[in-house]
Amino acid sequence: MQWKELKARLLEAGSTRLTGEPAERFIARSAAGPGAGGSGAVFFSMGSHRVKLALDPLSTTEITHRGNGTADLYFNGTLISGRLLEPGFHCPDQAFITVTGSCIFRCRYCTVPAIGGRRKPIEEIIRMVESVRHRIHAISITSGVQESIGEEEAYVLEVVKHLAFFNLPLGVSIYPTEKTPDRLKELGVCEVKFNLETATPALFEKMCPKLDYDLIWQVLDRSVELFGKNRVFSNVIVGLGETDAELEACIRKLTAHGVIPVLRPLNPVHGLPGTPRPTAERLNTVFAMHERALEVAGLDTREALTMCTSCTGCDLVPGRDE
Ligand code: SF4
Repeated sequence: MQWKELKARLLEAGSTRLTGEPAERFIARSAAGPGAGGSGAVFFSMGSHRVKLALDPLSTTEITHRGNGTADLYFNGTLISGRLLEPGFHCPDQAFITVTGSCIFRCRYCTVPAIGGRRKPIEEIIRMVESVRHRIHAISITSGVQESIGEEEAYVLEVVKHLAFFNLPLGVSIYPTEKTPDRLKELGVCEVKFNLETATPALFEKMCPKLDYDLIWQVLDRSVELFGKNRVFSNVIVGLGETDAELEACIRKLTAHGVIPVLRPLNPVHGLPGTPRPTAERLNTVFAMHERALEVAGLDTREALTMCTSCTGCDLVPGRDE
């Protein structure tokens, strides 16, 4: 089975059991993103490819740790040998840090509001980066919203100022004000991700009441002007009820605007009962659309230095998952 095909099937499953030797140092525990607040996740790699799987003792997929990261994946009667990757923070090769682990908004696919985490002081964030400095090539920052979008932006800007000291590529993904791209650019941030989350405005209204779809587009356009080609990203969740045609239109619009879409398979959550993860077949269809759209627009995911397009753990990424 080719890697892309295998990864689509693993992303459809979404989880694995973990057996064998103790593997604590390979377990990623996240305050944001897929699997946030769960019992952790592992990154399984085969050569330069990787996939992130949530840990679930009831999963039909199994990874057996043989020691020192060497691992065997058992999936549908096939054994695949590979490695477990040690996360920096949240993902391998990066310190991807959630500044504020709570949120005043209630987007229906998101677990952050339910976790209700705290805001990390700047000194703590610096210590976190220092502790993994030797095995990361980038710093990425995301955040919930503790009080208001403007107040959160101001705090994240302070964090970013302090992180310049590390002299590493820095990516930021927060809920923006219209000035966020300019302010981040001024501080030396190299990549930004502002998430559309849904393929259509109607779905956005349903999923993210109180947030502004048009503002995200406006901010994405300004970001492309400032940060340039291959430096601006936007998550769109696959599986919220959009049709393939709607998703393709959204992908095409993003790429035509110079934005690299991050097509994220839905993680089922309490807020969306009866909405399953997308199937491997759908993920393959979406991959083909995504690949064509990037090619037409002359965008290249291999240029990404930070955040999800550089990590590739949770999504199929044309140009990287080949
Ligand atoms: S793809 Fe993004 S959300 Fe997933 S593990 Fe990597 S950095 Fe985290």
